[in-house]
Amino acid sequence: MIIILKDNPNKKQFDNLIQWLKSMGLDIHESKGENTHILGLVGDTSRVDIDLINALEIVEDVKRIQEPYKNANRKFHPEDTVIDVAGVKIGGGNFQVIAGPCSVESYDQICLIAESVKKSGATMLRGGAFKPRTSPYSFQGMREEGIKMLLEARKITNLPIVTEIMEVSHLPLFEDVDIIQVGARSMQNFELLKELGKLDKPILLKRGLSNTLQELLMSAEYIMVGGNERVILCERGIRTFETATRNTLDLSVVPLLKSMTHLPVIVDPSHATGNAKLVKPMSMAAVAAGADGLLIEVHNDPPHALCDGQQSITPEAFDDLMQDISHILPYAFRWE
Ligand code: PEP
Ligand code: MN
Repeated sequence: MIIILKDNPNKKQFDNLIQWLKSMGLDIHESKGENTHILGLVGDTSRVDIDLINALEIVEDVKRIQEPYKNANRKFHPEDTVIDVAGVKIGGGNFQVIAGPCSVESYDQICLIAESVKKSGATMLRGGAFKPRTSPYSFQGMREEGIKMLLEARKITNLPIVTEIMEVSHLPLFEDVDIIQVGARSMQNFELLKELGKLDKPILLKRGLSNTLQELLMSAEYIMVGGNERVILCERGIRTFETATRNTLDLSVVPLLKSMTHLPVIVDPSHATGNAKLVKPMSMAAVAAGADGLLIEVHNDPPHALCDGQQSITPEAFDDLMQDISHILPYAFRWE
């Protein structure tokens, strides 16, 4: 349920309303924008008398929210959420590119790539340390060592770092990481999501391979209801009958998600296509569709990458892509 307040509500009446709502055991989520002042109510609102609230002098309107996601709902929070990641802002018109290798492979590799993507305009560095691989015989990541290398690369470049968590018990290792990534395969690891909800750290939540937007938003809700509202959503392609691409990039979800939620939405064209040649056109399309950012795999030597070489672009190709994106950005679609 949301209560839309009139401009400059009387303080005493406002406090009384809040107290009354709290006495019914409801959590209140206040959202104050330039032209809006909304109270979002979370909890069992079945006992709340809509007519009674509507009759209050300070109330403009009261509406029930049908969708099961509340905190993530744009109706709760009409303005775009802007997330500050160690000084880099994403969302609400702030566009950012996260780039780096699929996996951290060595100190030299991650530092070399970090410096080169930074030069081309990337504002955050990605790199997997714990890798979810289909085969147990494939490279599983450098694990704790990989996180240390990312921290070293951050020291050199000042780029905030993004890396994936697969297991709740690994959380202490992620203490100094700037954004924790929840991979597609973990999107519905609800115990993990609950733990991430207790952190004061942005979470990059990727859409699962076969998950609907509503399921994605419900996973975001798991994190937000714990108190962590800094969630960035990522479309990374879904499983369809098509085998010509690794996944099918579901680009229409970008404007659709922006209508459903206030959270930033980014696109990962690398995992969505599985093909380095498709990364540039799909990046451009994602920008045009209004994405708040991109997550792109860049490798200095793609044929010898330990993971996802076929979809990794070279630092030179990344530089070229960044230039083309900058031309499209001013014309990108914006959800109003
Ligand atoms: C990744 O970003 O390296 C990754 C494993 O992505 P996804 O979870 O989308 O497959
Ligand atoms: Mn990858």
